[in-house]
Amino acid sequence: AGAPLLVVNGIEVIYNHVILVLKGVSLTVPKSGIVAILGGNGAGKTTTLRAISNLLKGERGEVTKGSIEYKGERIEALTPADLVKRGVVQVMEGRHCFAHLTIEENLLTGAYTRTDKAEIARNLEKVYAYFPRLKTRRTSQAAYTSGGEQQMCAIGRALMCNPDMVLLDEPSMGLAPQIVEEVFNIVKDLNSKEKTTFLLAEQNTNMALKYADYGYIMESGRVVMDGKASDLASNEDVKEFYLGVG
Ligand code: ATP
Repeated sequence: AGAPLLVVNGIEVIYNHVILVLKGVSLTVPKSGIVAILGGNGAGKTTTLRAISNLLKGERGEVTKGSIEYKGERIEALTPADLVKRGVVQVMEGRHCFAHLTIEENLLTGAYTRTDKAEIARNLEKVYAYFPRLKTRRTSQAAYTSGGEQQMCAIGRALMCNPDMVLLDEPSMGLAPQIVEEVFNIVKDLNSKEKTTFLLAEQNTNMALKYADYGYIMESGRVVMDGKASDLASNEDVKEFYLGVG
């Protein structure tokens, strides 16, 4: 992990003009790092990711204070499409594959910002190299693939626009522990070989701290603790409140 790639500085987010949900959240994601945002239901993890990728508008939310910098530039005014062009892409919670399209068609929808066919084909092969399961399922309709395969498809699709940074919302949701491990191992692999930076939101603290370098724990719209993943994993308070080991 190197210099800061993303710096979120004291952001406040308000939904529907009245509901203050983020109350001054700051975090830093180093280049080529894996950073986890942890915390329970409703802590504000998804809202933080949406603020970064500018996906709040559809939810009637807005950033009312603070700043978000990516590669040293303010990005709050950029559209999600601009962000994709700059290398920031979000994988939304709940996977969101197109159910009636095949796995391969789903992956190709991720290349919408690109025009060079040879490059797209190379990119597809690269995704299949990281996700061999997707290659075997390439002609299957997404609707008939497993939850794990759909999660892999959603991540694979994000990789089709050659991102520098991927925001992953709750990648473990609804998946069996063994599949979660499989997904996280691929994330780790992408991170070490492609130097892709990951910022992920997870309720599965145990698993996230096993794979991330650094973690931020959120409660009621605030960061209440942060530290190196290994330090958080051995911290007594974290163990008691978030790891279910008392
Ligand atoms: P989860 O794991 O359930 O996604 P989270 O930590 O990601 O939890 P958020 O989804 O960011 O939390 O929600 C934070 C708070 O914002 C919650 O109290 C939630 O009810 C509220 N909230 C989320 N979306 C909206 C919205 N569109 N309008 C109003 N309030 C919202």
